Amino acid sequence: MAFRNNYANMVTERPQSHTRLIRDYDGSNPDFDFIIIGSGIGGGILADDLADRVGHDKRILVLETGSFLYPTHVYNISRIPNFSVANHFGADCFRPYPLPGHFIGGTPQMGFGGRSIFWSGLIPQAQDWEIDYFPQSVRDDFSASYFSLAGERMNESISLGSKAEELVQRFRSSSLNDDFVIEQTPRALHQPYLYPDGTPRDAFFDEPTGVFNTAELLINQVGLTPGAPQEGNGLFIKLNSFVEGVFDVPFGWHEVRTTNTLDGGQRSFYAPQVIVAAGSVESPKLINRSSAYQNFAEPVRQKVGFGLTDHPVSGESQAYVSSLGGGPAIPLTRHDHAKIIFYSRGLTDASGHIDLPFNVEMNINHEYWHLRNNDPSSLPAVDNFAKTRIDLKYSFANCLDDENGILSRWDDGYTPEIRFRRFSDLDHLLQNRFPKVAGWQKSPQDFFNLLNATRDRIFGLFNGLETLTGDYGGGFGQQWPFGWGTVHHACGTLRMPWKAARSESSFSDDSVVDENLQVRNAPGLYVCDMSVMPISTAANPVRSLAALSLRLSEHLA
Ligand SMILES: Cc1cc2nc3c(=O)[nH]c(=O)nc-3n(C[C@H](O)[C@H](O)[C@H](O)COP(=O)(O)OP(=O)(O)OC[C@H]3O[C@@H](n4cnc5c(N)ncnc54)[C@H](O)[C@@H]3O)c2cc1C
Repeated sequence: MAFRNNYANMVTERPQSHTRLIRDYDGSNPDFDFIIIGSGIGGGILADDLADRVGHDKRILVLETGSFLYPTHVYNISRIPNFSVANHFGADCFRPYPLPGHFIGGTPQMGFGGRSIFWSGLIPQAQDWEIDYFPQSVRDDFSASYFSLAGERMNESISLGSKAEELVQRFRSSSLNDDFVIEQTPRALHQPYLYPDGTPRDAFFDEPTGVFNTAELLINQVGLTPGAPQEGNGLFIKLNSFVEGVFDVPFGWHEVRTTNTLDGGQRSFYAPQVIVAAGSVESPKLINRSSAYQNFAEPVRQKVGFGLTDHPVSGESQAYVSSLGGGPAIPLTRHDHAKIIFYSRGLTDASGHIDLPFNVEMNINHEYWHLRNNDPSSLPAVDNFAKTRIDLKYSFANCLDDENGILSRWDDGYTPEIRFRRFSDLDHLLQNRFPKVAGWQKSPQDFFNLLNATRDRIFGLFNGLETLTGDYGGGFGQQWPFGWGTVHHACGTLRMPWKAARSESSFSDDSVVDENLQVRNAPGLYVCDMSVMPISTAANPVRSLAALSLRLSEHLA
């Protein structure tokens, strides 16, 4: 069936800013060395790095179905909270799968730069107990260099200033340090006006620093050169080009068939190396429509589109405080702000179960870091001018959940219908999800006790504590830990070799891609987006994806 735009989250238009800032590839030569499908974090970082490495003598094409909506991250231009923008391009096209207890909230945005236009820019690093779920060669490469290279590429900033660092040092001197690696939460900035330790580089400190995004990265890479020759080497971009599928052609090349989303025109491009980076929802559908799918063994076929997994993140516990104790009091006012992550060390009990399969994310005066991070001159939106507010939440790791998956809608064959189990179903988490990632199985009350006790260990270090939220629990005045969940960080739909649970000693190789992200039985066809992840880590996933993109770039070059 021919493509028609049923996506509520994909705008089809060609604004003037598009033609002013980048030239769509309109050369007559359809042949390239590399074709990358999708311009999000996975495709964008890969394309940028490949262009640096081999752009002088190779032809690289990025095909993106979305339009040129924003030249940069939405915070950097509109300064409106991203949930408003995300809701605007909302999830109307996703239908809940017709099973009780399943729901999908949130949606990947299909535009130039993909989700990187809307994301929060937090790049915590997955810890050893989580990267245990990646195959050995990937794990080794992450630790040896790619995690830090990913941080460098995204202009990692690791401090919000000296007060924030003082707080981290104080937490580290407490018993929390036994269970957690405590750091300021690293953030990805596009315009690196700060040194990594948080000190300003120069007078530009008063300017917005900006959130890293791949639209801007790619615009910078191609340069403002609308007249650039189209037949030579280098990086080329073609927007409004929906890829229908990737098909085998003679001599090991691939045909990439596209439909122009503006006028319906069809055009094919060819390359020996094609990288699918259409995101965890669209990539499996694309593979499904491609030759590779026909060549899969049945167990591999069954993985395509299944295992869609996000990490459960709890609701916030909040309190007002006056200072941090545990030593000479560190006073806290409305003008102080910090974003601190408590990474679980993954310590195990006598049975080998992971005590704390989660990170704790804490904000001090939350609203400061979020928008004022990008625009320090904007006024803080405070709920109480006299008091400092702290909040914390838990983000759990989650092994791939094969009960979740993506189907193409029956009436058009394109629009995704997503089956995704609600995280608010605590019994499922306690009986199925947490045992897989941690080994233990807890009753709801024991689980509430774990959350409340961990919260109390952190809150207990503050002076002048006035709690604003109830205990986690199911009773009156208490807080149910998890909401319905989203696919914001979802992964796993075209997985690499993986372990279904912590108890498994070996990796299953019925995976869709191998350790080098090459699609099984499809030489020259790769996947480079969230769908290859073998686990949804407690740490937000972009640093791991950026690391995989840089690793793949080196492999391909
Ligand atoms: C609001 C929000 C906040 C977030 N905050 C964080 C955070 O702080 N830290 C973190 O680590 N993660 C965060 N995430 C998650 C993170 O942004 C995503 O997991 C990541 O950006 C996904 O990158 P991707 O390359 O896999 O896919 P995408 O960004 O979805 O890119 C895929 C691209 O492919 C294009 N495409 C799709 N189908 C086709 C086709 N058939 N033909 C051509 N092109 C196609 C799409 O238009 C899109 O541009 C957040 C996500 C959201 C939505």
